[in-house]
Amino acid sequence: MSKIPALSIDFESFQKEGFLLGHASVLSIPENFPMVEYLEHLFEFTSLESCGKCFPCRIGSTRGKEMIQGARLNGKKMDRALFNDLLETMEIGSLCALGGGLPLGVKNALQYFGDELNEHFKA
Ligand code: SF4
Repeated sequence: MSKIPALSIDFESFQKEGFLLGHASVLSIPENFPMVEYLEHLFEFTSLESCGKCFPCRIGSTRGKEMIQGARLNGKKMDRALFNDLLETMEIGSLCALGGGLPLGVKNALQYFGDELNEHFKA
């Protein structure tokens, strides 16, 4: 696992290190909580909270949740290029920070917990 940098809790420090301080919260996840379940939760939360105004958020959050559920529950390996396309589409095509902010958290999880998450992607 990559070492996660020490951060001061302020917008500038988070932005400088490529993180997002948003939704007025800091999430703490138990060390043994599966990251794939956390990613599924992020997509599911976004799909439930989406207002539906733009396609990348409304459809993308649901497709992401389905991809991850397929991997987690049925062992169906995800296509990394397709997953990355989904993240990019949500990031640049969403009209607000709900859909547009989700990809950064997912990318950070992939970066720092790749050892755990890579097994869910096709080789
Ligand atoms: S990104 Fe914002 S505007 Fe677009 S569907 Fe999601 S909540 Fe609505």
